[in-house]
Amino acid sequence: METKEERSLNFLEEIIEEDLKAGKYTSIATRFPPEPNGYLHLGHAKSICLNFGLTHRYGGRTNLRFDDTNPVTEEVEYVESIKNDVKWLGFQWAEELYASDYFEQLYEFAVTLIKKGLAYVDDSTSEEIAKQKGTPTTPGTDNPYRSRSIEENLRLFEDMKDGKFKDGEKVLRAKIDMAHINMHMRDPIMYRIKHAHHHRTGDTWKIYPMYDFAHGQSDAIEQITHSICTLEFIPHRELYDWFIRNLEIFPSKQIEFARLNLTYTAMSKRKLLQLVNEKFVNGWDDPRMPTISGMRRRGYTPESIREFCDKIGIAKRENLIDVGLLEFCVREHLNKIATRRMVVFEPIKVVLTNYPKGQVEMLEGEDNPEDENSVTRQMPFSGELYIEQEDFMENPPKKYFRLSPGQMVRLKSAYIIKCEEVVKDASGQITELRCSYIPESKSGSDTSGINVKGTLHWVSIQHAIPVEVRLYDRLFKAEDLAEAEGDFKDHINQNSLQILPVVYAEPAIKEAKTKDRYQFLRKGYFCIDPDSTADKLIFNRTVTLRDTWAKEMNK
Ligand code: ATP
Ligand code: MG
Repeated sequence: METKEERSLNFLEEIIEEDLKAGKYTSIATRFPPEPNGYLHLGHAKSICLNFGLTHRYGGRTNLRFDDTNPVTEEVEYVESIKNDVKWLGFQWAEELYASDYFEQLYEFAVTLIKKGLAYVDDSTSEEIAKQKGTPTTPGTDNPYRSRSIEENLRLFEDMKDGKFKDGEKVLRAKIDMAHINMHMRDPIMYRIKHAHHHRTGDTWKIYPMYDFAHGQSDAIEQITHSICTLEFIPHRELYDWFIRNLEIFPSKQIEFARLNLTYTAMSKRKLLQLVNEKFVNGWDDPRMPTISGMRRRGYTPESIREFCDKIGIAKRENLIDVGLLEFCVREHLNKIATRRMVVFEPIKVVLTNYPKGQVEMLEGEDNPEDENSVTRQMPFSGELYIEQEDFMENPPKKYFRLSPGQMVRLKSAYIIKCEEVVKDASGQITELRCSYIPESKSGSDTSGINVKGTLHWVSIQHAIPVEVRLYDRLFKAEDLAEAEGDFKDHINQNSLQILPVVYAEPAIKEAKTKDRYQFLRKGYFCIDPDSTADKLIFNRTVTLRDTWAKEMNK
């Protein structure tokens, strides 16, 4: 991959450099404008990294602006979670602002347009308005309200504000052109009547501005230079510019880029809200969710998410990114920082027949071989151990390098052992493996001269700590949900969560803290889940060590 210095400019950086060179702006300002109607997801992370990244690179400021012009769907809980998520990702906004703080100013802007003869109050129903709008191939038609006098419009708009009408009775529209080739320019609605309680302005307002009449004006009020949004807003740009031009306010500029779509992932708040409400997941922060809070709980690091956003770059056309790239990024980071621990998921008992009875010795294991400042930890070793069931085969195929009768393996950071006898119960179930160990083969001071190919993880039975692990798979079975037939929920993977209530960990696991990241040897990367209690630690698997799906595909 290219480094920052080497890579060529993306198209947004090109635009900004040109604008700066031409003296259009002296410094740049961007904003991240979430609507507080849900938790942030990875698509928002992309937008956050982009907006904050640009002002990091070029200097300037990035505001956090809550786009809270729709009173019905917004909640304070979402505002708090959004602030928390942006900070966790590693960014600090210049100012925390709310579009609702501009309601008075926006109202004044609307009055200005009415006075210029560029806005009017319309009594038509929404059906009538839709019908009069025409189609992309046929022009719309003017209605009689369009020619209302400025005075009448001013009076009616004030009455709308004062709550003299019911919801839907009237709207304020921009007076542009009912035959305009861009449908968004056919007298778009600026204000609608809504007798609703707003989470910040309470019951003060009976009218609320539409997105198109709030967003660009908010940008201008904050003197945002580059207002970056996703491609679906391209047709709105003309209107964005029309309002700014006719209001003669700061010339913010809207620029569009392709939204992030990820394979096997639903990435829209509306869909994620359904998953939460209909209990397909256990809340917004369920580790299977592509929300920032879900990914945090799952064990993703801010560094890995930022790296992912950087790697995917910025596109001008819709595309679909492989979720494998996201997993690659987190694996790379966790490999560098994760503390290594041995944990046996499905145990089989090993008895070392020649190990002194009752003896326990402390062996040393490196916490992280990838870290030059890594410390070592003590691991108790004894004559009764657990290894993984899947690391033993009674009748192995050729080139099987794990344990089997008569074969030798190394126990990680410990000794070489040899399987001497397989003990079974009456039903033929294996109950234990009787093995011998080679005292001279101790890791670090091996004088045995024996070479073995397989190395297994293990825990001493009497010292093992039972913990719970939760393993996650993709939440959806369809690669491209936008293309998949039927409702997106038809494609939910019913087996996306597997809980192993008891697995056996080496004792050093007891020191685990919430922020710690672990590699359970040969099992993947893990972190502590907040459901953990003093008596029982619970771990989430963030990601496997290798891309098991890619392996499946190559079979
Ligand atoms: P959703 O469709 O999930 O509800 P949204 O666009 O309605 O998303 P907002 O809260 O309005 O959500 O978005 C805040 C900012 O994040 C906007 O600038 C929006 O363009 C950007 N954004 C949202 N989803 C994505 C995405 N998938 N990729 C990139 N940017 C996104
Ligand atoms: Mg939106």
